[in-house]
Amino acid sequence: MNSGIASSGETHRRGARAGQPVRSTCPYCGVGCGIQVRTAAAGPEIAGDPSHPANQGRLCVKGAALGQTLVPEGRLLTPRVDGEDVPWPTAIAAVADRLRQARAQHGPGSVAFYLSGQLLTEDYYVANKLAKGFLGTPHVDTNSRLCMSSAVAAHKRAFGEDVVPGCYEDVELADLVVLAGSNAAWAHPVLFQRMQGSARTGRKVVLIDPRRTATADLADLHLPLRPGTDTCLFNGLLVWLADHGALDTDYLANHCSGLDDALACARADAPSLAAVARTCDLPEDDLRRFYTWFARTPRTVTAFSQGINQSVAGTDKGNAIINVHLATGRVGRPGAGPLSLTGQPNAMGGREVGGLANTLAAHLDYDTPGARDAVARFWGSPGLADGPGLKAVDLFEAVQRGDIQVLWIAGTNPAVSLPDSDRVRDALRRCPTVIVSDCVANTDTSALADIQLPAAAWGEKDGTVTNSERCLSRQRGFLPLPGEARPDWWMFQAVAQALGHGAAFRFADSAAVFREHAALTGVAAQLGRALDLSALADLSGADYQRLSPIRWPVRRNPSGVAGTDRLFGDGHFATPDGRARLVPVRVRDALPEPAVAAAGETVLTVNTGRYRDQWHTMTRTGLAPSLLAHRGQPMIDMHPEDARRTGLTDGALAVLRRPDARPGGRNPSEAAQVVAPVRITTAQRPGEVFVPIHWSRRFSGSALASELMTRLTDPVSGQPDSKRGLARVAPLATDWQARLLRHREAGPWQAGQWPANNGVLAYHCRQPLAHSDSWWLAGRGTPDWAELAGELLGGTPQLVLSDTAAGRFRAVRMAGPSVVAVLLVEPPAGLLPETAWLDGCLGGEALADEQRRWLLAGAAPDGPDPGPVVCSCHQVGRNEILAAMDEGCDTVQSLGARLRCGTQCGSCLPELRALLAGEAETAG
Ligand code: SF4
Repeated sequence: MNSGIASSGETHRRGARAGQPVRSTCPYCGVGCGIQVRTAAAGPEIAGDPSHPANQGRLCVKGAALGQTLVPEGRLLTPRVDGEDVPWPTAIAAVADRLRQARAQHGPGSVAFYLSGQLLTEDYYVANKLAKGFLGTPHVDTNSRLCMSSAVAAHKRAFGEDVVPGCYEDVELADLVVLAGSNAAWAHPVLFQRMQGSARTGRKVVLIDPRRTATADLADLHLPLRPGTDTCLFNGLLVWLADHGALDTDYLANHCSGLDDALACARADAPSLAAVARTCDLPEDDLRRFYTWFARTPRTVTAFSQGINQSVAGTDKGNAIINVHLATGRVGRPGAGPLSLTGQPNAMGGREVGGLANTLAAHLDYDTPGARDAVARFWGSPGLADGPGLKAVDLFEAVQRGDIQVLWIAGTNPAVSLPDSDRVRDALRRCPTVIVSDCVANTDTSALADIQLPAAAWGEKDGTVTNSERCLSRQRGFLPLPGEARPDWWMFQAVAQALGHGAAFRFADSAAVFREHAALTGVAAQLGRALDLSALADLSGADYQRLSPIRWPVRRNPSGVAGTDRLFGDGHFATPDGRARLVPVRVRDALPEPAVAAAGETVLTVNTGRYRDQWHTMTRTGLAPSLLAHRGQPMIDMHPEDARRTGLTDGALAVLRRPDARPGGRNPSEAAQVVAPVRITTAQRPGEVFVPIHWSRRFSGSALASELMTRLTDPVSGQPDSKRGLARVAPLATDWQARLLRHREAGPWQAGQWPANNGVLAYHCRQPLAHSDSWWLAGRGTPDWAELAGELLGGTPQLVLSDTAAGRFRAVRMAGPSVVAVLLVEPPAGLLPETAWLDGCLGGEALADEQRRWLLAGAAPDGPDPGPVVCSCHQVGRNEILAAMDEGCDTVQSLGARLRCGTQCGSCLPELRALLAGEAETAG
């Protein structure tokens, strides 16, 4: 191993000095909040960074709980090749050998990389350079494809480049904020707080979303449109603007082209307000109000997110939004513009280096005149990839066909997150070599890996990220690397060196990678790209360490360098002629309406999304029990009418099956279905259900929302249609339900250990708690609980209570006076106590006689059950809040004064206000 590799590892092993604050960035959503970390004796203390422009000191509940996730549990600490732990040189040699062989036997296109918006820009840069520049494969795509690639394509069609013109300050300056397909309150909480904090008389907020989400708390008008009709809504707006003299004709004449075609298309979709109202299933009055507000408000921001992007027509929807901004000249001006909100912390950074298969590097496309030669020269590439590669869904199709021999997956979990994930797992099984570099040892994807490489985790990594407002920030390591973990860029470089490309891969540290990336953007800028970091290309190591957040493009000025808050405000765009394009778009639908249901069946449209306190597939947030207290298991949100039609009650288990799923599915253990409890709520539209995206097979037997999604993608962006699946809905027949809690010291238990002769375990969901691991269980048949209890509890229970006639069973395993494990069984409709109290019984304290009696009764002894947690920071339950309201608390402030709820990060304020407004069932 050469000295460059060794020195990098040593650099990262040092960690931060105790007591010294380190400025870094939150690793979750695209808001990209700055944090400050103090490494104290009790562990890292995390707070918002008041100097960071994105959050100005705020953090949401996920960011605030980051310290809880910095645990060694579940880390991958050693490279593994074919199931054996090996030293790094062996692992690097194995990766290099397999890449070399695949290229030699099947050509460069037989190797592929699938990257992640969790990677740092430096990681992405080295991976992209290795793949496209030196292995010659164009197949480099990223999970950002699932998140915002439609916004990328829309930006490129309209502006000539993937540029977000504005910045977060615009949502504060705007007099009208339109949130389209965005549950910002949960998905971009700190930006939502900035919108809340800037509320003033006359400022209006319009929410466009089929669901009444927590974001509706801020909305003056909610338009719960029929899914898939956003294009018609914005086409209708374009027509309205034209017909009411609200177009900016000077701006259009001087800076845009394409109005006539776009307007003709819009008129075809939206000939009248009544037609739009019919298509979108909205009241005409509400539409008129929205259109009127938009027409008369120059300072308008339209923030759009996954509800727009994750569609077969996501690019068209994005362009429909951009069209109305161009038509009114509202782009790149203070308080005005379209604002794409990315889901991941570094989706933008990945885009900047060329992490998407259809791009080359530094915002250059393969067909940008002069780009291929310029990049090949810059890299000294022996054989640059010669055209766009396969986008995520197509890439995994190619893997399944056998076209890809080696697939390197870095920092992501496609076995859970890609649509039709059952098929993705099948593809991974067929692939001759799957390499997974990840900080987590066991994911649904790594279970199918041939080679596992231990990656540095957040807190250990050093590099840069770019948030949704083009703001580049440093992520700084403050913890030493554990075991053999290494930064991702280091692994890609080590493989490049092993393949004989050491001359081009001599990065001593992440600063060196950044300098090269910044220099390449200078080449791109000469070819007309707006992305330009070349002013940072000569940063010293110390400068890089000190680098403050800055929005690109970065320019030199007499006092150093300066960022750029807004782009295109002068009406000059990144197209060859400098004019923006209005793009003609029409409504396109992907799926048949629910009427496809056969007699006796109910088929509903499935929407997917996020929970407030979880992130992606929970590999990190699932480590924080306080975050799981908000929603301990996934729930299927359903309108009361649909619940009645299907015979489901609140909390009952339902099963959703894809209409095209064969009985038993492709693999009997992997039928395309989701099983979860139902949450009945009028926040859902009738005919539609909502399923969260977070639960993987590590947590639940059947809760992969991606199983319900088809592989349909947007024809322009390749982004999957993750917001519109279809599912047959039916109650899940069960004979019993149970709660199992095992103290961590009782060792692991897995649902796969359920004995075959004890009926069917039809549902299981794991919820880690503060003291224990717990499971929600339900099944069919009549298990012999007395026999089963010993297996489930990890030993013979000391306390047992059985009431066969009532279908109740209790068993408690003790170690001296302390509880080690508890099993509570009830009939399907019976009540089981809340988990917080149960978990408290496993806290190590000696159990009093009275507590034993309550435990066997399966009920908390004193006071009302706190109910599901609403405020995660202070662990305040819904029932406690309702009780305080009964006692006179009638404002958020009085609830905060009584219970402390809502007084820390503020993420729960929309739910508190919904409870105060009597909307206990408001969706998330
Ligand atoms: Fe992290 Fe929350 Fe900020 Fe997003 S809003 S970056 S999750 S602290």
